[in-house]
Amino acid sequence: MKATMKEILRQEVASITADGLYREMRTAASAPAREIVLGGKAYLNFSSNNYLGLAAHPAVKRAAQAAIESYGAGGTSSRLIAGMLEPHRELEEKLARFKNTEAALVFPSGYQANVGVISALLSGGDCLIMDRLSHASLWDAARLSRARVFIYPHRDMAALEKVLRRAKGYRRKLVVTDSVFSMDGDLAPLPAIVALAQTHGAWTMIDEAHATGIFGENGRGLAEHYGFENNIDIIMGTLSKALGSQGGFVCGARETIQYMVNRSRSFIYTTALAPACAAGALAAIGVAEAEPARRQKALSLAGELRGRLRAVGFNTLSSESQIVPLLVGPTTETVSLSAKLWRDGIYAPPIRPPTVPDGECRLRFSLTADHTADDIARLIESITT
Ligand code: PMP
Repeated sequence: MKATMKEILRQEVASITADGLYREMRTAASAPAREIVLGGKAYLNFSSNNYLGLAAHPAVKRAAQAAIESYGAGGTSSRLIAGMLEPHRELEEKLARFKNTEAALVFPSGYQANVGVISALLSGGDCLIMDRLSHASLWDAARLSRARVFIYPHRDMAALEKVLRRAKGYRRKLVVTDSVFSMDGDLAPLPAIVALAQTHGAWTMIDEAHATGIFGENGRGLAEHYGFENNIDIIMGTLSKALGSQGGFVCGARETIQYMVNRSRSFIYTTALAPACAAGALAAIGVAEAEPARRQKALSLAGELRGRLRAVGFNTLSSESQIVPLLVGPTTETVSLSAKLWRDGIYAPPIRPPTVPDGECRLRFSLTADHTADDIARLIESITT
């Protein structure tokens, strides 16, 4: 008799568990910030992308609540049908100004933005060139686009140049990179990438998911940090990390946005982002701009943590951002270190394949504006004792 789906998937789950890779969700009792309440106990939290502490900021909550009062809870239909509401328009105008581009388009998530933009731009006969450590949403976008995909080793500019030479015959060429890499916390060499792409006639797109609100003099992202906002064709980001809300966006030339409205399937065939998320994100950009001390604090605490970990011989890779990895390697040792921290009241789940390559398991610490120097001391104490 043929095995049922239930039986087959039971075996799959057993095999994931045997490899030490089984993952479960834990339910938090409040908005995860510096602290997270799990199973009735408060933990010092180093796992959240709420980098500026804005998810539960009073001004952000008030804006989201006011939007619910005026527009209701849901997006109700596609943006192109009846789902385009005032908070979407205001947010897109603000994002275009914030990112210093002509126009912006908001998607229900950053994942959908990446998948929708790349699959709308490229098809068979085109090529996508990407860093080996690109975010999963970019890998999925690559698959969906049917373009030929060229991968270059992480941040290796000589390899990128070689790939660009090989890619000569393709109709459209797009180089895409995370600007801050989500699991390593290091930075893409944007000036070199843009220069190489331009020399070889390729378009450029950057994913600013972890840089928006954090890098650049005004918190606009790594493109601002390098003064490259006008040299990059598409700047993508998410509202769900430093901006404490939900949703994704792309910024670029007006024509790019007009094209996406008409061709990006993950924009067209999905319900509009909830108006509360749009209004919350708009308020969060205001706070991020008005209070630069938040991003400065997250970055300086991260610098302190890196310095202290490196001083006692730990490998924090090439992190330069608010994301600080502690590379452990094998799965079991990573899981035990995470469990040790858990016993000490600190939450930093192990990061394992497929999120990171085999043998490169790690703990990933996210520093936020809400953390303190004492929190770092407590973390170091728990790791080293
Ligand atoms: N890009 C990167 C680099 C990310 O880390 C993430 C979120 N993990 C996304 C895109 C997707 O964004 P969202 O969570 O808004 O779907």
